[in-house]
Amino acid sequence: MEMNQKSNRVVFMLYPFQGHINPMLQLATILHSRGFSITLVHPQFNSPNPSNHPEFTFIPISDNFSESKVSTGDIISIVSALNKNCEAPFKQCIEQLLKEDDHHDQISCIVYDGLMFFAQSVADHFKLPGISVRTSPAATILVYEVFPRLHEQGYISLLDLMSQDQAPDIESLRLKELAAVMREKTTDGIVELRAALTDSLKKSSAIIVNTMNFLEQEAVKIIQEMFPASSIFTTGPFHKLAPSISSSLLKEDTNCISWLNRQSPKSVIYVSFGSMASIDEKELLEMAWGLADSEQPFLWVIRPGMVRDSKGMELLTKSFEERIGERGCIVEWAPQKEVLKHEAVGGFWTHCGWNSILESICEGVPMLCRPFFGDQNLNVRFVCDVWNVGLELESGKIKKAIRKLMVDREGEEMRKRAKDLKQKVDMSLKEGGSSYNSLNDLAEKILSF
Ligand code: UDP
Repeated sequence: MEMNQKSNRVVFMLYPFQGHINPMLQLATILHSRGFSITLVHPQFNSPNPSNHPEFTFIPISDNFSESKVSTGDIISIVSALNKNCEAPFKQCIEQLLKEDDHHDQISCIVYDGLMFFAQSVADHFKLPGISVRTSPAATILVYEVFPRLHEQGYISLLDLMSQDQAPDIESLRLKELAAVMREKTTDGIVELRAALTDSLKKSSAIIVNTMNFLEQEAVKIIQEMFPASSIFTTGPFHKLAPSISSSLLKEDTNCISWLNRQSPKSVIYVSFGSMASIDEKELLEMAWGLADSEQPFLWVIRPGMVRDSKGMELLTKSFEERIGERGCIVEWAPQKEVLKHEAVGGFWTHCGWNSILESICEGVPMLCRPFFGDQNLNVRFVCDVWNVGLELESGKIKKAIRKLMVDREGEEMRKRAKDLKQKVDMSLKEGGSSYNSLNDLAEKILSF
């Protein structure tokens, strides 16, 4: 049996940004531990470091993609460009791999980041099964299908949709939560992209979502009805099922762990806005003084380039440094999963990226939310209104929010709920739990191809 499994090669197609590389490499690690051989195809841009993963085969493909495209921050045009530029090289790559195939190491399927939907067409071309991976909540899939449908049903403007508490056919999933993702203006580009994405999901043999069934039961049910030909696997949180690996594109500053070791339990607020969000100088200074005023110890990630048109960290003045002294630790990039697991950490001020949220709920850490774009506007609603394990930051009220999150009695219930949610996650990962079972089903599904 083991030998048989080893002969199954799974080819991954990555989307080259940190919040996607991490969960995809975690999923690859999980499948590798189940006996599958792994080939990771990735655009040259933001290449992962192969030496961190000697067990995988890495194949870079040309992407004709430039840093300048990324700096526009226009995700729609980034996704479109990657889909356009990578299809032909990926096709060639698969053709080559199929030529080299010996029957001990045949390609059993293509597992692709859902945003690299061209990979499904390539899979179809070679008559290989395609599996689409969603690295954001399952509910975001509904946006692609349900919204156009509602539009057809006469709900014309976004405001019109927002005014409804419930979508006519989305049961109790609040429309407002979904509409939050649509806060950005809908352009032709977005409509086209959504259609292409939905089309790839329809053709896929399976959809894997980095979520847990108990978190999104209802959305998962609807998605299964929407895409009856694909099997849906809620196999998250991937990082808990994968043995500890690092796929950081920036160097993790591990000095912050020794600093954390010197802090009291649950006293530190960890502050990070992930790999893409950026702020202006004014917001940086507000954050700095809010942290200073909160009187709590803090670990703050100020990523290079995070503060627009500015040197970032250098903006922080001597008087700020003197005020905080040893109470603050600032780094350019942290080993986040390790930080959130640390007993000194009692709160997470986050931009609400889905990975960050999963990593936080897995450790029972309540969140202070400051969403920026895309699914972050949906994720914040999950955190603050559905699971009630965090609060949304109101402008000018940093000190109060941090104290409520970490120490005030007012926040006690919220902190308890965060602990309870962690227990539910632990249950889903244990033998017989939903994520545990989902992983077994997924491995079986791939073996059945
Ligand atoms: N991360 C990290 N160190 C940091 C900040 C973030 O390792 O200092 C990791 C974090 O653990 C997560 C990923 O980067 O896995 C960010 O993904 P997320 O979905 O939260 O946000 P994105 O970067 O996609 O906006």
